[in-house]
Amino acid sequence: MGKATGFMEYEREGNGSVSPKERIRDFSEFKIPMSGERRREQASRCMNCGVPFCQAGAVYAGMVSGCPLHNLIPEWNDEIYRENWREALSRLLKTNNFPEFTGRVCPALCEAACTCGLNGQPVTVHDNELAIIEKGFENGWMTPQIPEVRSGKRVAVVGSGPSGLAVADQLNQRGHSVTVFERDRRPGGLLMYGIPNMKLDKKIVSRRIDLMKSEGIIFRTETDVGKDISFEELKREFDAIVICCGAKKPRDLKVEGRDVKGVYFAVDFLSMATEKVIGDADGFAITAKDKNVIIVGGGDTGNDCVGTCIRQGCKSVAQLEMLARPPLKRAENNPWPQWPRVCKTDYGQEESIAVFGGDPRIYQTTVKKFHADDKGNLCSITTVKLTPKKDEASGRTVMTEVEESEEDMPCELLLIAAGFVGCEDYVAEAFGAEKNARGCISTENGKYSTSVKGVFAAGDGRRGQSLVVHAIAEGRACAKEVDEYLMGYSNMI
Ligand SMILES: Cc1cc2nc3c(=O)[nH]c(=O)nc-3n(C[C@H](O)[C@H](O)[C@H](O)COP(=O)(O)OP(=O)(O)OC[C@H]3O[C@@H](n4cnc5c(N)ncnc54)[C@H](O)[C@@H]3O)c2cc1C
Ligand code: SF4
Repeated sequence: MGKATGFMEYEREGNGSVSPKERIRDFSEFKIPMSGERRREQASRCMNCGVPFCQAGAVYAGMVSGCPLHNLIPEWNDEIYRENWREALSRLLKTNNFPEFTGRVCPALCEAACTCGLNGQPVTVHDNELAIIEKGFENGWMTPQIPEVRSGKRVAVVGSGPSGLAVADQLNQRGHSVTVFERDRRPGGLLMYGIPNMKLDKKIVSRRIDLMKSEGIIFRTETDVGKDISFEELKREFDAIVICCGAKKPRDLKVEGRDVKGVYFAVDFLSMATEKVIGDADGFAITAKDKNVIIVGGGDTGNDCVGTCIRQGCKSVAQLEMLARPPLKRAENNPWPQWPRVCKTDYGQEESIAVFGGDPRIYQTTVKKFHADDKGNLCSITTVKLTPKKDEASGRTVMTEVEESEEDMPCELLLIAAGFVGCEDYVAEAFGAEKNARGCISTENGKYSTSVKGVFAAGDGRRGQSLVVHAIAEGRACAKEVDEYLMGYSNMI
């Protein structure tokens, strides 16, 4: 611990942001990094606790709190304070392959468990992490690390999202020869085509992919495994196969009139929006321009849709959420260091408040019916209010419709952001791998090998739709298991 009194002397100060009205003019990142001296002050708030919950990544009340990668947070905060940036980088890279992604998009599970947050404001761990890695790139410290010795073993990774990239990076550094297969035009998975550019600029994703290529990893894009290349072919060419296919099968709505034109899945809409921003759109693209948009789903994906629709010039935007609004502060039954179940107003919602004068979220409400005009295009929807009720048979609380609470809303574009139900069927089928009840590729608890010898699975395709930090953690743990399978032992961490 560099400064004994940091937490008493300095208030928490996060990175700044471009104002909502200004930033909606384009799709650029809008966070403003702070100066080196102020960053030091923020790092000095870390007290190097004897019991650093921030790096424990433990499960409390069914939710993870603390960093799942077990990032050495107190150590690198101390190095920032002492201005040993290179050492800070070296400590950070020991546990996190891609801090430039988590430093931008991670919801900071670490900060929820920071001891300073027990009675005050947590340390700005997330922003400190980003400052370290960006300093690394700026100063030319992020040079290709080419393994000196190759093992002669070949590994195929199917899917180039954060879990696939983490598997590839770990195994390549271990000396195995890795080829990543990706069906999309560009590698990155949801980092490239799901998370909007204003949260994660696609140049940042490409910068990492270029580095990985120069370290010897081969990327075979526009190659759909199970369609363009078979399992048998992969088996012949590779000693181990890792499926990192994500869990992009969206949950649909069973609503009257579902087949009208103008209803899309949020993830398709967001992918097309990004393709347009990066100049890859070559055909039809859904746009919110001049439309009344309704998003079904009050979560983070819904929020990304709000921000995207506003940038595209929508006429209005609303987000329907089935559940009641969470409390503004932790409830008594949700104490530190549990993940706080509180209402947060994210960037898209802030922008809606600035542009349209109100929070777009409408709670305890869902869509009941779609209405089309005479050309079959969506023109309005009927909504209905919901209330919690105990289901006698199961004993569970379910949201049920409130009688005579229907209302009509104008709507020419409806986006479904109601979650995901596992990975696409053809991928597991291509390998003959078993799926679990959640529609994901089945492995033993805490293990990554599938029911097929030599085939492993990691990331959302194994655990269900989750977070970038979990995908990287899964990729690292899976790589260790693959290494053991290939070599008979592993000294990877
Ligand atoms: C809209 C949206 C916004 C999100 N925002 C955040 C956020 O802000 N912060 C956060 O932490 N998490 C966020 N997430 C979640 C996060 O993006 C995922 O948890 C993470 O990307 C999962 O990584 P993955 O590698 O398992 O899968 P993915 O990122 O889904 O990557 C899977 C890849 O596999 C490829 N693939 C699939 N099948 C095949 C095949 N047969 N052959 C070849 N390639 C194949 C796919 O094309 C894809 O590129 C968001 C998710 C969505 C949908
Ligand atoms: S990866 Fe996420 S949880 Fe871990 S230290 Fe970074 S911001 Fe915190």
